[in-house]
Amino acid sequence: MIKDNLAGIGMTSQRTRSRLVSRLREKGIKEESVLAAIESTPRHIFIDEAMAHRAYEDTALPIGMGQTISQPYIVARMTEILVDSGIMGSVLEIGTGCGYQTSILSQVSFQVYTIERIEALQKLAIERFKALELNNVTYKFGDGFLGWPQYAPFDAIIVTAAPDNIPKALVEQLAVGGRMIIPVSQPSGDQHLILLEKTEDGMSQQDVETVHFVPLLSGTI
Ligand code: SAH
Repeated sequence: MIKDNLAGIGMTSQRTRSRLVSRLREKGIKEESVLAAIESTPRHIFIDEAMAHRAYEDTALPIGMGQTISQPYIVARMTEILVDSGIMGSVLEIGTGCGYQTSILSQVSFQVYTIERIEALQKLAIERFKALELNNVTYKFGDGFLGWPQYAPFDAIIVTAAPDNIPKALVEQLAVGGRMIIPVSQPSGDQHLILLEKTEDGMSQQDVETVHFVPLLSGTI
């Protein structure tokens, strides 16, 4: 559970968040730890005030710099897949964005490492981590294609922007028994959410569902 410093006004109420959680249950999310994290996280503080009245709709919203806050269903689904498939000791997230997914991860894992390539977005995300008093989030401004070798190997890796191919460095930084959930752009233009698991003998790969993410881009701005 995280501290909600901003509860009070109608749209931020616990009841509004509970309704979002009910919708996620209807859509098939079952993992109680993930639903509890969503229920206790004030999504409205991760988006612009002008858009805050839509914070508890199950939809992606713009966060500036051409980026988006992911749809709650997708945040829940990706997190649930990681939680259900193994341990959540150290988790690497590529694409901090507004920091909402990071905040959900911080409640279901021991330590979260998160990388963002747009400094202006990262600065805002850091302010939110401080406001929510998240004490298990380590962040970095950089290019997520490279991962974060210093803290590897990771039990889980979540990528919240879509590359054309699974980045090799990220596969290398996965622990044996580790899982990576990542949207991958297909030549057809579709994106498929892929679950990859590193085993003693190699890798296994599973196609989860079709998704829509912003592209994973090289370099920093
Ligand atoms: N996790 C976010 C989703 C953010 S959108 C949420 O909770 O809603 C995806 C983010 O990935 C954007 O902020 C974008 O700037 C970032 N991104 C894209 N390519 C990246 C890269 N190579 N390294 C790090 N971040 C990247």
